[in-house]
Amino acid sequence: MRLILMGAPGSGKGTQGALLAQRLGVPAISTGDIFRANVAARTRLGGQAQGYLDGGEYVPDEITNAMVRGRLAEPDTAGGFVLDGYPRTVSQIAYLDEVLRDAGTALDAVLWFSVEQDEVVRRLLERARVEGRADDTAEVIRRRQEIFLAQTAPLMGEYRYRGLLVKVDGAGTVGAIAQRVAGALARSGRAPV
Ligand code: AMP
Repeated sequence: MRLILMGAPGSGKGTQGALLAQRLGVPAISTGDIFRANVAARTRLGGQAQGYLDGGEYVPDEITNAMVRGRLAEPDTAGGFVLDGYPRTVSQIAYLDEVLRDAGTALDAVLWFSVEQDEVVRRLLERARVEGRADDTAEVIRRRQEIFLAQTAPLMGEYRYRGLLVKVDGAGTVGAIAQRVAGALARSGRAPV
């Protein structure tokens, strides 16, 4: 099963992605996690990405696309994947299409987590308190929401048009949302879980 998780920063897609991947027995691939790991390990990719992450800006498509192509070529993705945080731009959608076409595969569904803006900001501020992520400051949180609304929210229309979009109400507890995810996927007929 090949799934994409989309939603605003703080919408819970990372948490739900990890749970879903575990249930499906496929890897959860978070582009944000891969970038953060590279920054921490001071790799060349980390050096290229760090400034963008710290400012809440998107890492340029060429860098992000090449990284995702490499990750999706790893053998553990043969049976599927849960991709969290990619694609985020129009050009990334086209690139992912190409990667999957080259591999002779296709997406099963795109889960879209919708959460009120006030609620995502509240969650991110709470995460900042608990995890201390460098990009969870009030100013960068605001910037990340702006960029999401300008560049990523409009992509919903493309996946809806393709009949892949499965919307999930992302409010509430982790457990309640996980149940909603399973129910929405089952009802969509796109992915048996
Ligand atoms: P996330 O953990 O998904 O919130 O991502 C954290 C940061 O990683 C983002 O604010 C971007 O700087 C970068 N990033 C993650 N995924 C992408 C992507 N698909 N395109 C560009 N930048 C990304």
